Amino acid sequence: MIPSPGDIMKRRSTVVSILRGTSLFFALWIPVPLVSWLGEGFSDGDFLDLIYYAGRITTIAILLLISGACVLFARPLSKWIVPIAEPRCPRCDHTLRHLVSPRCSECGLKLPDELVQDEPPHVEPPPRR
Ligand SMILES: [Zn+2]
Repeated sequence: MIPSPGDIMKRRSTVVSILRGTSLFFALWIPVPLVSWLGEGFSDGDFLDLIYYAGRITTIAILLLISGACVLFARPLSKWIVPIAEPRCPRCDHTLRHLVSPRCSECGLKLPDELVQDEPPHVEPPPRR
């Protein structure tokens, strides 16, 4: 069964929500290495010793990257994770987009009526010169 456009939009919306939740999850962990670095660094007077604190600073950077990427790429990732299903012939795998008769135009297989579109394919008029 091919999901309806409404179902696809709901699934994509769910994926976006999950990615935003993931972003929030990682963002909430950022204060842990940050407070550790600054707290220990200020009490010892060496918070600018970036080599010593490189592990914690790297952890902060990784958490920021994951969190930011989950927000920035939520929409494109949802389109990649939930693609629009394209109807295909079960016998020859030929695309059935813009099908106007209940037969595969490639192999002639009789197809169920729900795969046939009501409208003929839109054809662009040739450009005027
Ligand atoms: Zn076919």
